[in-house]
Amino acid sequence: MKGSVAMEATRRRAQHGANGKSSEEERQPAQWGRAWEVDWFSLSAVIGLLCFAPFIVFYFVMACDQYQCSVSQPLIELYQGETTLLSIWSRAPSFTWSAAKIYAIWVSFQVFLYMCVPDITHKFIPGYVGGVQDGARTPAGLINKYEVNGLQCWLITHALWFANAQYFHWFSPTIIFDNWIPLMWCANILGYAVSTYAFTKAYLFPTCAEDCKFTGNVFYNYMMGIEFNPRVGKWFDFKLFFNGRPGIVAWTLINLSYMAKQQELYGHVTNSMILVNVLQALYVLDFFWNEAWYLKTIDICHDHFGWYLGWGDCVWLPYLYTLQGLYLVYHPVQLSSVHALAVLLLGLVGYYIFRSTNHQKDLFRRTEGSCSIWGSKPTYIECSYNSGDGGLHRSKLMTSGFWGVARHLNYTGDLMGSLAYCAACGFGHILPYFYIVYMTILLVHRCVRDEHRCSSKYGKDWKRYTDVVPRRLIPGVF
Ligand code: NDP
Repeated sequence: MKGSVAMEATRRRAQHGANGKSSEEERQPAQWGRAWEVDWFSLSAVIGLLCFAPFIVFYFVMACDQYQCSVSQPLIELYQGETTLLSIWSRAPSFTWSAAKIYAIWVSFQVFLYMCVPDITHKFIPGYVGGVQDGARTPAGLINKYEVNGLQCWLITHALWFANAQYFHWFSPTIIFDNWIPLMWCANILGYAVSTYAFTKAYLFPTCAEDCKFTGNVFYNYMMGIEFNPRVGKWFDFKLFFNGRPGIVAWTLINLSYMAKQQELYGHVTNSMILVNVLQALYVLDFFWNEAWYLKTIDICHDHFGWYLGWGDCVWLPYLYTLQGLYLVYHPVQLSSVHALAVLLLGLVGYYIFRSTNHQKDLFRRTEGSCSIWGSKPTYIECSYNSGDGGLHRSKLMTSGFWGVARHLNYTGDLMGSLAYCAACGFGHILPYFYIVYMTILLVHRCVRDEHRCSSKYGKDWKRYTDVVPRRLIPGVF
């Protein structure tokens, strides 16, 4: 019913203008991805992040290395004059060539798996979508093809990791923990190199010039990216590779290395470490199982590739998303059964909401609404929008299932899962809780950013949607 009323309204609007476009649509160019113009607030945030984000990562890792994961102790000592920035810096392990070798082998191996081993897992794992898949339509109207083989890369990498730990003993399973800070310098070198390369490439030889966005502000361009989908050759896609491979494949390996270190130091592995490993592995596996779906998420569909994604995937993600495991190496917390069970429950319920919400939208979009959500036909609002090439397209916004409860319940589920990882570390220190604070800022900001974009894209149709589903993350509250 809502759908047909919306369709009629859309048809009438579409009839108003020439070339099938309404005057309103003709006036508004497509507003996808990051902004065209930079306000002072965004610019200050960008410069602040460029200057401070690397130090935030260093601070947390250093706090574990030198202060048993106390976030306040370095500040107190600095304030009381018991230490200096220089002495903190000089105590930090420096760059080593052996770490550089490990890192180079790691990244090269992931490039090899990504580029040279086409997916075969989709041929024998029922229900898994892999191999060559279409991305979403870009602002210029293109649809890119992607080789989706992340699950296969994850499986091969982890099979090798376990084979090494059990049989080959080429390297110690604690290798990542043992080289953690030297590896961080290498990750920074790659993060800056790839962001700078992408920035330069956008000016000199962009993959698709029509999908580039220049704001005129060099800092903003560097950080938020210019090119939409930079590629080398036909298949090496920067966004898909850097987000998924050195970052997310590494996530579970890093946790395994922490687990091995706990075993080495204390002779046993705590239930908190197992919980963190299991819950985060579930999240990582979910990511790779749904990699084809990931092609339709904001990172790939709307964000341009700059320092935010390039450096973020190389440094921020592997170093800060794994703080819980790192903390548990220094503080081997053994949780009571009730506490452990509560954490497990929170993590699983969060995961269920996160996955089901994402699944409902995917199913709804794939079938164009011809599916069943919670046992009945979904309700939706029919929308229209223009792409940069002037084409008029139609879309639907679902108003039932989880998408009728709040506009981003997938973020809410994600946040519940994130809180579970932190709560697994007990309440001794605040360092492991950085993750939930960060995720809350990230997802609330993302939600606002996405809604701003949707509002520009769909105009009045978006307003009709927000009237039907008034809350963003928590029904009745926000
Ligand atoms: P969503 O999957 O929520 O996608 C938002 C887009 O979905 C909108 O831009 C719009 O796109 C479309 N949409 C919005 N409302 C509706 C509706 N009612 N019906 C149908 N389509 C709708 O966002 P993300 O891509 O940000 O997130 C994907 C997942 O990844 C989330 O679960 C998030 O929690 C997770 N995530 C995790 C991060 C991490 O670091 N751990 C970081 C970022 C995300 P359109 O233009 O097509 O209409």
